[in-house]
Amino acid sequence: MMTIVFTMIKKLAEYQIQDNLTNRRVRTHRMRDGDTQLVWFKRDLRIEDNTVLTQAAEKGPVLPLYIVEPEYWLGPDTSARQWNFIRDCLIELRTTFDQLGVPLIVRCGNAIEILSQILQSNKFRNLWSHEETGNAWTFNRDKNVAGWCKIRGIEWTELPQNGVIRGPSNRDKWAAERKKFASRKQCSLPNLNKNVSKLPLGSIPKSKDLKIEYDDCVFRQKGGRNEGLKTLESFIFKRGLNYRVDMSSPLSAQKSCSRISPHLAYGSLSIREVSQATQKQKNTILEGKVEGSSSWSRSLSSFNSRLYWHCHFMQKLEDEVELEWKNLHSAYDGIRGDNKHYFQSWSKGETGWPFVDACMRMLRATGWINFRMRAMLASIASYHLWMDWRKPGEQLARLFTDYEPGIHWSQIQMQSGTTGINLPRVYNPVKQGKEQDPAGFFVRHWLPELAVVPDEYIHEPWDWGDATQFLKDTYPRPIVDHLKVARIAREKVWAIRGSDSHKEIALKIQDKHGSRKKRFKKSNYKRLSNNKKKLKQPAKEVQLALFDKNGI
Ligand SMILES: Cc1cc2nc3c(=O)[nH]c(=O)nc-3n(C[C@H](O)[C@H](O)[C@H](O)COP(=O)(O)OP(=O)(O)OC[C@H]3O[C@@H](n4cnc5c(N)ncnc54)[C@H](O)[C@@H]3O)c2cc1C
Repeated sequence: MMTIVFTMIKKLAEYQIQDNLTNRRVRTHRMRDGDTQLVWFKRDLRIEDNTVLTQAAEKGPVLPLYIVEPEYWLGPDTSARQWNFIRDCLIELRTTFDQLGVPLIVRCGNAIEILSQILQSNKFRNLWSHEETGNAWTFNRDKNVAGWCKIRGIEWTELPQNGVIRGPSNRDKWAAERKKFASRKQCSLPNLNKNVSKLPLGSIPKSKDLKIEYDDCVFRQKGGRNEGLKTLESFIFKRGLNYRVDMSSPLSAQKSCSRISPHLAYGSLSIREVSQATQKQKNTILEGKVEGSSSWSRSLSSFNSRLYWHCHFMQKLEDEVELEWKNLHSAYDGIRGDNKHYFQSWSKGETGWPFVDACMRMLRATGWINFRMRAMLASIASYHLWMDWRKPGEQLARLFTDYEPGIHWSQIQMQSGTTGINLPRVYNPVKQGKEQDPAGFFVRHWLPELAVVPDEYIHEPWDWGDATQFLKDTYPRPIVDHLKVARIAREKVWAIRGSDSHKEIALKIQDKHGSRKKRFKKSNYKRLSNNKKKLKQPAKEVQLALFDKNGI
């Protein structure tokens, strides 16, 4: 039934495109100096529910542009898997624009140089884009573009495309604002004038043309709007039934999680359309029209919370750009080092802890892993291997097809315990393996070299009687004694958390960035810090809701 609704939504969009096509003779518009609305596509690679495109089209003939910036792609947090996903999106977006009689111009180079070149041939006075909560590189680029526009009298309109609020925002009112955003009517399809810009289209380069390092991500998710819609549809009508329970293990999560993250990161789906489609399906379930309604209802509620977190975490980077390179809480400055030799083993999936290595190898081959395992990989790097979070954070960013700087850096700091407002989460790599992959299917799949190890030793091959030669030739021994290093790490971090100065700064961070859910109160923090016994036990704090079983 809901599949029919989805098909209807798609059909409606096609009719509107067709309608535009039919009318294009009437609306053919020669670009005149000054009235061109230059729409700069960034992480909003769709025409549907695209506020920027719709509003720009109301003002005049739109010239859509995507700028491929080679300098960005040399950055330490970027990779070919990300570019290849964007490339899929661009190829499809160009076809969609073609059907509307509007060319999608693609240019490769420095943004200001490209904008200057376009200005020479099309004297535009209006530049449009969404508000990008990007990494430090795109933040600085945007500052330069803003300066360039100002000098030339060009009006640059940036509009939000999610629940993130730009400028001074009040965290106390944030959730209500975000709710308003998610329930607001979606933008109608833009009424585009066919323009006859004489600009050459420009090719969409391959990653090797951009000199991006080769990336062997054989199972990468495909990009593009159609793929995004199919993924969403299969999740909210089929795959998502046991999402709430199955999201924790990497064995089940691959199918049971929505897998829409790269589509949200590059905008082939809008977060509002996802929220509204989910709510609609939830209402149908509440009316009792769907089998398994209680599981469905719980799963879709959990999913909706995560869509909320998407914006909640991005807001942190929007409010504090330094989050990408500076500890949120200064008490953790300088406590960890590079530990380069550990970094190599961790990033290749050769730590000697089978479950950790299997997770890393899956991530390398697919560009995706579930939330809990991302958290574990980050936590192992920070606590067991005592590495400063920056380099492991860059490595994980490169490996994630869905790299979203706002979520990523906030999460990296959270899992490394440097926010000061989240309880430290030190994962036990063996316990995680036994809980999430009891029979070792997942480990054997990603580490075929462990095929000969008996089930009872699959997560601790070093305890297997026949392991001596095997651990010498085939698979490494554990890089460190995980129980010992975890204990030392916990002691160090809790010693820092115990001080009065830690508390003072943490309360300010909580005011600026913390969730306002009822369960987190300032008084909770005070009680936690004053009670040494309680400090050892992860107390229920709102962020623990990120995990299924209250934590580690
Ligand atoms: C260290 C670390 C780094 C991360 N980096 C990224 C990143 O670069 N990009 C990214 O999209 N997610 C990131 N996440 C969050 C989360 O792991 C992914 O969003 C999720 O695994 C993507 O798979 P999915 O789309 O199937 O998620 P689902 O579980 O189906 O969730 C649906 C959507 O909700 C959002 N979401 C889910 N979990 C979270 C969360 N914990 N915080 C914020 N938003 C969430 C995402 O947009 C996701 O696509 C990171 C988590 C950790 C621990």
